[in-house]
Amino acid sequence: MANKIKVATTSLAGCFGCHMSFLDIDERLVTLVEHVQFDRSPLTDIEHCSSDCDIGLIEGGVCNSENVHTLREFRKQCKILVAVGACAINGGLPAMRNFIPLEECLAEAYLHGIGVENAHVPNDEELPLLLDKVRPIHEVVKIDYFLPGCPPSADVFWKFLTDLLAGSQPKLDYELVHFD
Ligand code: SF4
Repeated sequence: MANKIKVATTSLAGCFGCHMSFLDIDERLVTLVEHVQFDRSPLTDIEHCSSDCDIGLIEGGVCNSENVHTLREFRKQCKILVAVGACAINGGLPAMRNFIPLEECLAEAYLHGIGVENAHVPNDEELPLLLDKVRPIHEVVKIDYFLPGCPPSADVFWKFLTDLLAGSQPKLDYELVHFD
C-alpha cells in the first residue's frame, strides 16, 4: 500500500459525468487499484487531500467560494493537477450563465421560476457565495494537464493514467481526443 500512487478527485461546478466516464474503465479499475490508492474523492470517505498526494483530477469549473477553496487545497497537496473535461477546461455549459447578470439568474431560479413558492433567494451563511462568473480552473491555480471532452472517454482516462503511472509524458492519440 505504501508505494501506491495517491490519486484524489473532486467535482466542482461539474455534473459528475466525468467521474462516471472514469468509472467506465470498468474491469480495468481492478488493475488500476493495484497501483493506485484513492485519496480525497467522491469515491471515498476522505475529507481532505493528503499532503503527499500524487495526482489530483478536477472535474467542473469554479462557480462559488467553496469551489475556490477546494481547488486551492488540491493545488497545494497534489504534485500533478489535471483539468478533466470541458467544464474544468473552459467553464463548459455552466459558463453560459456568464452572459446573464448573476442577480437575474438568482431571481429566475428562486423568485420568478415556475412552481416557486415562498420566493426568496437563499442567504444562509452556511451556503457558499456564487461567483459573478463561472471560471475555468486554470484561472485560479496552475494546471499541469488538460483532458478534453464532455466527458473525456474512459479510454482517455485509461491512457492518460497508465502513461503517468509508467513515468512517461501522457500521449493521447488523435482518435482519443474530442471536445464534445
Ligand atoms: S465536462 Fe461534461 S461530463 Fe464533465 S462535468 Fe462538465 S458537463 Fe459533466
